[in-house]
Amino acid sequence: MRPRPIRLLLTALVGAGLAFAPVSAVAAPTATASASADVGALDGCYTWSGTLSEGSSGEAVRQLQIRVAGYPGTGAQLAIDGQFGPATKAAVQRFQSAYGLAADGIAGPATFNKIYQLQDDDCTPVNFTYAELNRCNSDWSGGKVSAATARANALVTMWKLQAMRHAMGDKPITVNGGFRSVTCNSNVGGASNSRHMYGHAADLGAGSQGFCALAQAARNHGFTEILGPGYPGHNDHTHVAGGDGRFWSAPSCGI
Ligand SMILES: [Zn+2]
Repeated sequence: MRPRPIRLLLTALVGAGLAFAPVSAVAAPTATASASADVGALDGCYTWSGTLSEGSSGEAVRQLQIRVAGYPGTGAQLAIDGQFGPATKAAVQRFQSAYGLAADGIAGPATFNKIYQLQDDDCTPVNFTYAELNRCNSDWSGGKVSAATARANALVTMWKLQAMRHAMGDKPITVNGGFRSVTCNSNVGGASNSRHMYGHAADLGAGSQGFCALAQAARNHGFTEILGPGYPGHNDHTHVAGGDGRFWSAPSCGI
């Protein structure tokens, strides 16, 4: 696996249009991919091989949907199903607009390069980590779904948070916890059906934004469950989660 600092440096150099000579001077032996003119080939997580648009389907679309899951429109949640339909197109357009790209709803080089800039080699968005989303254990086991599913759900949650963070001025968002095994959930007195046990949920600290601003913004970024000030047990954090249905309650915030 390519160390992150090198990957970021390569991306920065190539992104700046610099020649490859300085890259080879610092590159690890594995960085022969720098011979490619495609910046995407340097990405340590996932590289798209072609443009995607309405009607496309498959794993490449599913990977795209994870990255734009935070752009479903107010009150909506984007399906991560590998089918590029109108909702995916609209999400891509919102993502493009958010980053000043031409909002054509077609995922091509400009869109993919922005995503590459936003993701780490483990596919998490640059401002969030698996460790932040799991303060219960190290292997995502013991929840209500398989460890792989819990981890995958947490990844989607992180991309939603990344979208929300960007919409709120790119100020740090404090994540105090996410996934819980059944045991961890019961130890903290979590609800018996808590979405924390599925990897869908994150508990946010006030940060510089405040609980209410976080709860209000979450409505625009794919969170179907939002619990905050005024809801029992949630005066000291804002809880956001994906998953089926919708339950928003933060009465002190007008939600
Ligand atoms: Zn919670």
